[in-house]
Amino acid sequence: MKSADIIESIYKTADATRDELRFIIENRSGESARMLYGLARERACEYYGKKIFVRGLIEMTNYCRNDCLYCGIRRSNKKVQRYRLTKEDIMECCREGHSLGFRTFVLQGGEDMYYTDDIMTDIVASIRAEYPDCAITLSLGEKPRESYQRFFDAGANRYLLRHESADPEHYRRLHPAELSLANRMECLRNLKEIGYQVGAGSMVGSPYQTVGNIVEDLLFIKEFAPQMVGMGPFIPHHETPFAHEKPGSAELTLFLLAIVRLMNPKVLLPATTALGTVENNGREMGVLAGCNVVMPNISPMSVRRKYMLYDNKLNADAETEAAYESVKKSMDAIGYEVVSDRGDYAG
Ligand code: SAM
Repeated sequence: MKSADIIESIYKTADATRDELRFIIENRSGESARMLYGLARERACEYYGKKIFVRGLIEMTNYCRNDCLYCGIRRSNKKVQRYRLTKEDIMECCREGHSLGFRTFVLQGGEDMYYTDDIMTDIVASIRAEYPDCAITLSLGEKPRESYQRFFDAGANRYLLRHESADPEHYRRLHPAELSLANRMECLRNLKEIGYQVGAGSMVGSPYQTVGNIVEDLLFIKEFAPQMVGMGPFIPHHETPFAHEKPGSAELTLFLLAIVRLMNPKVLLPATTALGTVENNGREMGVLAGCNVVMPNISPMSVRRKYMLYDNKLNADAETEAAYESVKKSMDAIGYEVVSDRGDYAG
């Protein structure tokens, strides 16, 4: 078995076995990576051309009831200055984002019970009414099915909920006892059934992660067939139990992103901020490995430094417009064009 043959076969069939995935990951080299990136780029181009979709990320709250061991805004981190955006703050972010050309808004936050279903539904409905041409993505964690349904009925289109790890034992080592992979999966299934475009995904190089875990993540993504996949490196945060763990590497992240593209040809695949944080030009390298989405931050400047999931986050101090311009320029420099478009899944 040679890596080149396996990669060729994944390209042709959009599928792979456990053994094949393990083999190409364990035996990866500069040569196999170059081949993989080239084919992944070609696949992305086939469905999306040399276009990059942007999503305006609004970090609406850093309050969280959860205590995920890796996350900087976990409830046990008493050093975080907590904040919440009001509906007016969020509408103002959308206004600025829309005028710059964003046609997708992503409302992300910790699991903050202040935002009841009534409050959230009102926020979603207001954005929907004001911006009928835009997609609304939510990333607010685990909720009962009824809540997801209400947000959907109010006008939300997409939901990002990374599965974090498809191996229950590994999942347990990253999360406190009250969270379970079974519930995460149940949420993902509910979201899909309701009709959301759904994003799953995981961190690369999270503590205790084995190649076997990574293979299971790739196979789960293939089977669940989400429309979006969020996959970026784990980066330690100094006020968490994982403060002294090693970050995930850009090299392995890029390799896996390219495999995700080949196994899920039409997937909407962001080159994450975390990838741009561990590696200079990481987001550009992501695009050259098959990514087709970038998610610039459009949160108010006053809260940027408070939404720190990990240390040294890229562009934490960059003004919305300047950061957006720099994404446009950097994509232009590698021959890609940032477009003002909802950027839906190529169905
Ligand atoms: N609370 C929601 C949820 O759990 O889906 C959305 C917010 S959560 C902070 C968004 C994502 O950030 C998580 O899915 C996780 O993968 C990522 N994340 C958190 N801490 C991280 C870290 N230290 N390094 C890299 N990514 C991290």
